[in-house]
Amino acid sequence: MAVTETLVDPHENGTSDLAVSRCKDLAIQLAEFPRVSLGHLPTPLEPMDRLSALLGGPRLWVKRDDCTGLSSGGNKTRKLEYLMADAQKHGADTIITQGATQSNHARQTAAAAARLGMGCHVLLEDRTGSNDENYIMNGNVLLDRLHGATVSKRGGGSDMNVEMETLAGTLRGEGKTPYIIPGGGSNPIGALGYVNCARELVEQASAMGLHMDALVHATGSAGTQAGLVAGLAAIKSDIHLLGIGVRAPREKQEAMVYDLARRTLEHLGAPVDITPSDVRANCDYVGAGYGVPTEGMVAALKLLAETEGLLFDPVYSGKGLDGLIDLIRKGYFDGMSNVVFLHTGGSAALFGYPDAFDLPGYVT
Ligand SMILES: *Cc1c(COP(=O)(O)O)cnc(C)c1O
Repeated sequence: MAVTETLVDPHENGTSDLAVSRCKDLAIQLAEFPRVSLGHLPTPLEPMDRLSALLGGPRLWVKRDDCTGLSSGGNKTRKLEYLMADAQKHGADTIITQGATQSNHARQTAAAAARLGMGCHVLLEDRTGSNDENYIMNGNVLLDRLHGATVSKRGGGSDMNVEMETLAGTLRGEGKTPYIIPGGGSNPIGALGYVNCARELVEQASAMGLHMDALVHATGSAGTQAGLVAGLAAIKSDIHLLGIGVRAPREKQEAMVYDLARRTLEHLGAPVDITPSDVRANCDYVGAGYGVPTEGMVAALKLLAETEGLLFDPVYSGKGLDGLIDLIRKGYFDGMSNVVFLHTGGSAALFGYPDAFDLPGYVT
């Protein structure tokens, strides 16, 4: 172990010239794929010094993918840059996608379709069983409708891929050319958005002279982490990447990410090998289930709102933050100097969950 360690460039994961030149090579490879510009990129990389001081662990940073710009931002925008270009290449005039009721992916897809002059149908699966008026009509659902998407509901546990195929058949019968985007935009095309993000982040940190030890984010449909795993492998970065799960148990989540990362590298045409040990997920912060608030999420979300002026969401980034904070307290990152939290967005969903936060009313 000690021998190999001496062979590893200590600055490999962010500041070496070698890493930056590999980023340039990766940018050239990515340029082979059709892409429409939808996001405000690069997104900022900012320190969270009040939070770092409060927790007393490594210096914490936030990569602001909540600031991608499209309909209040979020991680799906990067995936949609490649997915919507593929839809255009296929001559599509209508986009079909699916997600949970408060899907951030559905909202960003509806906005991207509007921006590109396409129709959009979103199928929303009732995964929580909540009948709360805000949950079913406000937040992301309000924005889906504002963007002009046709919104329809499906029961929890529906086979959403079959539902999308059936709708595509109906639309084809009406003379439309539909294009199906899978839930979360997570396939090898969408994951290219996070291959690109890995490149962007390593170049950005390098330009700032920042040595990143770890990168943490919420993981759901796996495309974000799979793209990052693939991109970081292509750059040969040894940054410690950790996904905090929001739905599936760890073994299943890691298998999904690993499988998609491999398929993404294949799609990219990169002669890079990864092993299952390159994929790490911690699924201890899901709580009762997908989209169901936890005490830890509420505490983490309030803490960040009050110490950093940042907004997170109840379903993904809030649970991811809960994991980050708890793992810092447990010493998981001990010995590391800089830990980056990738903010995947989602704060529009807050308005679908107003009762999750026990907040004081007006003071008279
Ligand atoms: C979709 C989403 C995620 C998870 O990303 P995946 O690529 O689906 O794993 C994380 N955070 C937010 C806010 C999201 O909307």
